[in-house]
Amino acid sequence: MSIAVCDVIIVGAGIVGAACAAECARRGLGVVVIDRDIVGGGATAAGMGHIVLMDDSDAQFALTRYSQRLWQELRPELPRDVEYEQCGTIWVATDDEEMAEVARKHDYYGKQGVPTEVLDTHSLKHLEPNLREGMAGGLLVPEDGVLYPPCAARFLLERAQERGAKLRLGAAAVRIGQGRAQLSDGSEIAGDVIVNATGAWAPELSPGIEVTKRKGHLVITDRYPGFLRHQLVELGYLKSAHSVRSDSVAFNVQPRQTGQILIGSSRQYGAENSEIENDILARMLQRARQYMPGLAAVSVVRTWTGFRAATPDKLPLIGPSPTDKSLFLATGHEGLGITTSLGTANILADQITGARPGIPIEPYLPSRATKECAHA
Ligand SMILES: Cc1cc2nc3c(=O)[nH]c(=O)nc-3n(C[C@H](O)[C@H](O)[C@H](O)COP(=O)(O)OP(=O)(O)OC[C@H]3O[C@@H](n4cnc5c(N)ncnc54)[C@H](O)[C@@H]3O)c2cc1C
Repeated sequence: MSIAVCDVIIVGAGIVGAACAAECARRGLGVVVIDRDIVGGGATAAGMGHIVLMDDSDAQFALTRYSQRLWQELRPELPRDVEYEQCGTIWVATDDEEMAEVARKHDYYGKQGVPTEVLDTHSLKHLEPNLREGMAGGLLVPEDGVLYPPCAARFLLERAQERGAKLRLGAAAVRIGQGRAQLSDGSEIAGDVIVNATGAWAPELSPGIEVTKRKGHLVITDRYPGFLRHQLVELGYLKSAHSVRSDSVAFNVQPRQTGQILIGSSRQYGAENSEIENDILARMLQRARQYMPGLAAVSVVRTWTGFRAATPDKLPLIGPSPTDKSLFLATGHEGLGITTSLGTANILADQITGARPGIPIEPYLPSRATKECAHA
């Protein structure tokens, strides 16, 4: 058995593990990253890459905003294949009830210093002519963007490697804790800190944490340059997709630099099998056609699924495990892990190095779940 020694062992080379590796290495820590597969091959390869502000809670908004700013700072250094584009999001409203939500969001974002623009029927139609007639309006969030997640993960990991991080692919961690990671090839690595960044698989290595799989389907079309210009998301999404119990589909489409259209999205609990489910897919595409009838005529190139790592309060777990102070968690990012990877990495590295965090970290600490149980 071989034993290697480092400061920080990061298990999982998805976008979260890659970002944590880059940030820890930037701060001078000796980092080893382990993945049983390839870089960015888990949920990161399946994700939509929408860099989006979300306001289900103040804590969710704070982390998405902090992270979006970090992406904007990194933007000049991102290679072309990361395809970062600040195309903006339009939250599409179909009726007066959803226009009330547009007004609420506009007010909330404004109070947080984030520019948005309320669109009426005509200005929405002008910006996105392929939306169906009769939409009530929408909210444009111009600083939201999109990127291509697997290349972003690869870039972050290369950054880490340039700063001395070591990468070991093809070996799974079978046990982590007490400053050690045992790998499936029989080797062992010792580190002051071990980070469980294995996304939806995190409970396999850290049993008892409240992370469950939430399956999603995505579709990519052939090239239709100019068919849409912004990421378009239905405001009904807030009613349906954020239910923490039932399966749901929502209109969520993204323009890619290639001219392709990425069509999402579905959310399912309790589905462990990664197979395409035709009934869910059909519901998802029907929803998309209800908003953009022209999508009925596009050619689909590929369809796939992935697993989000969901937590009960829809916030990630970032920080030390309540039961082992050498073990840190960086998981539970659900549908926002591409967006929040950079913020997560900074918060994690702040905690490891004892630096003052850029935003209050309490809402993301794994110990919050333990406290809630104690009071339940
Ligand atoms: C359909 C869909 C759409 C999405 N859209 C968006 C979006 O638009 N915007 C957004 O911000 N987020 C989105 N997400 C969420 C985002 O993709 C995830 O939150 C993010 O990729 C999580 O990254 P991760 O690094 O934590 O996990 P992963 O990318 O899953 O990486 C975990 C890694 O751990 C490795 N691993 C697991 N177990 C072990 C082990 N025992 N030993 C070694 N390695 C192990 C895996 O091989 C994998 O590489 C979407 C997700 C899905 C499924």
